[in-house]
This record gives sequence, C-alpha cells and structure tokens, in this order.
Amino acid sequence: MAERLRILVAGAGPAGLAAALAAEAGGAAVTLVDALPEPGGQIWRGRWSAPPGGASAPWFRALRASAVDLRLGRRVVTAPAPGRLGLTGPDGPEILAYDRLVLATGARERFLPFPGWTLPGVLGAGGLQALVKGGLDVRGQRVVVAGSGPLLLAVAAHLRQQGARVLLVAEQAPAAALLGLAPGMLGRPRLLVQALGFLGLPLCLGAWVTQVTGSDRLAAVQLATPGGPRVLEADLLACGFGLVPNLDLARLLGCAIRAGQVVVDPLLRTTCPGVFAAGEATGIGGVEKSLAEGRLAGLQAAGQEAQARRRLPAAERTRAWGRALERAYALRPELRGLAGPDTVLCRCEEVTLGDLQPFHGGREARLHGRCGMGRCQGRTCGPAAEFLFGWDPGGPRQPLVPTTCADLIGALSDPENP
Ligand SMILES: Cc1cc2nc3c(=O)[nH]c(=O)nc-3n(C[C@H](O)[C@H](O)[C@H](O)COP(=O)(O)OP(=O)(O)OC[C@H]3O[C@@H](n4cnc5c(N)ncnc54)[C@H](O)[C@@H]3O)c2cc1C
Repeated sequence: MAERLRILVAGAGPAGLAAALAAEAGGAAVTLVDALPEPGGQIWRGRWSAPPGGASAPWFRALRASAVDLRLGRRVVTAPAPGRLGLTGPDGPEILAYDRLVLATGARERFLPFPGWTLPGVLGAGGLQALVKGGLDVRGQRVVVAGSGPLLLAVAAHLRQQGARVLLVAEQAPAAALLGLAPGMLGRPRLLVQALGFLGLPLCLGAWVTQVTGSDRLAAVQLATPGGPRVLEADLLACGFGLVPNLDLARLLGCAIRAGQVVVDPLLRTTCPGVFAAGEATGIGGVEKSLAEGRLAGLQAAGQEAQARRRLPAAERTRAWGRALERAYALRPELRGLAGPDTVLCRCEEVTLGDLQPFHGGREARLHGRCGMGRCQGRTCGPAAEFLFGWDPGGPRQPLVPTTCADLIGALSDPENP
C-alpha cells in the first residue's frame, strides 16, 4: 500500500482548519499546529471551549470528528532542513517532518506611530478585542476606536456589546473610497448581516488620530476630522491601521514575497516546491477568502488537483473582494507626517524617528540603530517603517521568536539527520 502523504499545516485559523480538513478528506495524514492554545485563529478566538454556536461551529465539529493530529500551543521557530520544521511548546522543542506544507499563518495589526502612541491606555484594536474575549472588563470605559479597515467596526461593536462607551470610530479612509464597496457588499449576505450589528456606532469617515495626551496614561485623544480638529477625553484608544500578512515563516523557507504577500499561483503553490499558502498570508481578504483558499490549498497539497480546480472560481471571487478592500482602505499620505523626531518607532529598543535620520534602509537601521532588534523582532516597527520610509523589512532570522538556548538546540537538531 502506498504511504500516505504527510501534510503539515502551520496555523489553525480559518484557513488552516479548512486546509487540514480538506487535505485529510483528500487522503493525507495531516498535522495542524498553532502557537495559540486553541484553534480558531483571530476571528474565532475563544470559541473552541465556548458553547457551540456561530460560524465556527461546523468547522470545530468537523475537526473534533477528524483524525487530524492537532498540536496546540506550539510555535514554529525554525526550518532546520528541507521538509522539516522546528517547534517549541509546552513539552519542549520538537522537529516535525512533512512531505507538503501549507502556510496558513494569518495576519497581524499594523501600528503607525503618532505622539503619545506608547502611553498606557493605547492598544491595538484587535489586541483590545482579544483581551476582552479573554475576560477584560470594559464596562463603562470611554473608548475611541481609530485607524483603518473593517476590523475597527467589528471591534467597536464587540466593545459596545461588552458595555464600553464607544465615543467615536475614526476611519481614515474617505467616504468616497468606501462607497466603491457598496456593489460588492450587495452580493455578500453574510457581510450585510454583520453590518446590521454596526448600526448606531458613532462612525466618522476621513478621520484619524493626530496625538494622544496624558501624563502617565492616556487622558485625551486628538483627531483630525472632516469637520476640523476634535479632542475626546477617553480611557482607552483602540487603534490599528489595517492588517499585514505574517510572512516570517514564508520568508525563512525562501518563498518569494511580493507587495507584502506570499507569491502563489492560482492553485496556491508558492515558489518553494511542496509549500502552499492560504488565507491572510497571501493577501488580506477576510474570513471567506481564508476558508476558500484553505480548502483549495488542502486539496491541492493532498494531490486532489481536479477537486482543487473546481474550487478556483469561488476562491477567485473572495480574492477580488480582498483587492477591493485594499483599494478602499488605502492609507492616506497624511499618516506619514504624524510622528515627530521624538516619537518612538521601535518600542522594544526605544528608537525614535530622530534616531533613524542617519540611515537609508531597514538593514542599516537594524545593524547600526537597533531598530527591530528587540523582543518583537520588528513585527511592530517593521510594517510602520515600510509605510513611512518604504524600507524593506528584511529577511527573518532563526529562531523566528526569542527562544531559550535549550529549545533552540532542540528545534534545530534533527534526530533523523544528526
Ligand atoms: C488581531 C486580529 C483580530 C481580528 N478580529 C476579527 C474579528 O473580530 N472579526 C473578523 O471578521 N475578522 C477579524 N480579524 C480578521 C481575520 O483574522 C481574518 O479575516 C481571517 O479570519 C484570517 O484567517 P487566517 O486563517 O488566514 O488567519 P488567522 O486567523 O490569523 O490564523 C493564523 C494562525 O496562525 C498561527 N501562527 C502564525 N504563525 C505561527 C507560527 N510560527 N507557529 C505556529 N502558529 C502560527 C496564529 O497563531 C493563528 O492562530 C482579525 C484579525 C486580527 C489580526
């Protein structure tokens, strides 16, 4: 009997879940790994152990009924040899071998610097939502939600539902740009239903934060709005300027990256043989895109090309929506002028914009200015520097996140290939 293909899926968000289940249905032996303690990624965070319900329910039911080998709380940190990934987790380091790999590593928020952005009380929009999903009490708190992208409204609605007083949702994209999304919305009933939950939110389009003031924590948020400057006294600012794909693992493996996304062909093959990518890693597009691409990548990785090809039109429709979102929420140039010379760009190493003046590129700023050399390894300041100065974030180093020496040795040494 032929050996079953070993497929490793990195990331157990919607894209990874769909890929793992499709690959298993296609006859492969599938391992699904995620750094988080539960599957579901960002959007379904906290749903795995909650009473079943909502859009995640059928996916979790299928996963529980499947033979997919689910490894949670394990982060991929190294790629020690072709066909091998090194992980760290609660049981120490381990090496996993694969014949095919699906990268479903999702996205993270993009932060841009402005005076006061490092004060306590200023959080990422998705970050605050994650804390609230984890039990943070925001009842009665005055919150300004600001930045860009559809996530802002989802976060604002969630915070309002949890008892926060949402003072304003400041979206930097102008009304004219967002109107262009209306025809596409009409063909997406799920989004229309979701939009009903946003009714009554105090949304201001074409508005953005210019400064946050306060002595030891956030006291007031200053904004530029179409009606002129505004100042709002607040307890919290939830702020994010769209999402950027998590590309560290793809870069480490040597997959080509273009325009901040993993380069894939229509069947989601990356430029590395046997490596596929799905979901936000190939471009920001929302949960429908992640699910559609996950299914396609899982089938293709399992060698079910005919079935994968039947999924092409559905995946292409979701990608087209992602491109429309990208155009509508394009960041305005004014955001490049918010930070002054004293504003910190790299929080880990406390590097200000003024400190970066002598440098002409990301590599130089890293090597000589320590920008991006701290604990987060440039995950926060990298996308900001890319937007502000057009600097290439550069290749990742092994390990992908700070790791103990013992774990690193374990995640790099291959027992089958000493
Ligand atoms: C902070 C945040 C909050 C969001 N909240 C919402 C929301 O409320 N509503 C909404 O509609 N959309 C939300 N989104 C957008 C949503 O995530 C996408 O629309 C879509 O669901 C992404 O699915 P995905 O599977 O591609 O990625 P994700 O859901 O991001 O899943 C990627 C997974 O990969 C794992 N991973 C990454 N790197 C590694 C590694 N090296 N080792 C192991 N595991 C790894 C991550 O832990 C994560 O679980 C949010 C996005 C972010 C970044």
